[in-house]
Amino acid sequence: MKVNDTCTGCEACLPYCPQGAIHMTEEAQAAVDRELCVECGVCIDPDICPVAAFEEDQDETAKFKRSFGRLLSKHLDRRDVVKDSPYDVKTNDVTAKIPKNKVVMRLELNRPGGGLTFRDVQQMGAEMQQQGWNPDISSRTLNIDEDRSMGHLLDQRILTCHFEVELDPEQVPDIVRDATRIVTEHHLWVSINVAGLAETIDRTQNVLKAGGVTMEPVAKVNLGLGRRLS
Ligand code: SF4
Ligand code: SF4
Repeated sequence: MKVNDTCTGCEACLPYCPQGAIHMTEEAQAAVDRELCVECGVCIDPDICPVAAFEEDQDETAKFKRSFGRLLSKHLDRRDVVKDSPYDVKTNDVTAKIPKNKVVMRLELNRPGGGLTFRDVQQMGAEMQQQGWNPDISSRTLNIDEDRSMGHLLDQRILTCHFEVELDPEQVPDIVRDATRIVTEHHLWVSINVAGLAETIDRTQNVLKAGGVTMEPVAKVNLGLGRRLS
């Protein structure tokens, strides 16, 4: 993201950036720290800047950051797991998409106030794989290397990242243990969600309860959806 020269220096945009990437220059104009910017698009909302001074950068790194969310959701579509969208999180169509006797574990990684980098995503993915888990992560992300023409892509930031793993309810405590250890080593935060059909979630809750972990139920029932096709 960048700020064009119509900026009046009103500072209205400063509180909105989740990355703290917008600052005021000595010339009293807003400017974006492109390393911190994750291209989330919050600042380009017409309700934020009265003169619409924010513009999307068109260089390859910025385009890649913007495409990342779309890449990931395409990947999830292909895997037929939980189809999600930032605008439709409470009404997912999961019909026939959650396998019988399995749950889908979602690990949402972030580092509040700092975001994470593609390097974090790549390292987390590789370490989860070493532990025997198979996180649903785009191979394009796992194969990013330092020599890409678009620069130091591995150090570019994103706001958050989801890994999804399909597993038996009895494996849930093991993945919680491994994921917690790995994110702690990387100074990241993880939020863990388990999606499944009601009877499988019951089994998961019992397994976790036996291990001393209480699951917080969230009322996210997809009425009429999530059923198996016969
Ligand atoms: S809200 Fe717009 S005009 Fe005001 S400082 Fe930010 S970029 Fe400049
Ligand atoms: S696109 Fe998002 S991260 Fe970048 S400056 Fe705007 S609000 Fe901040």
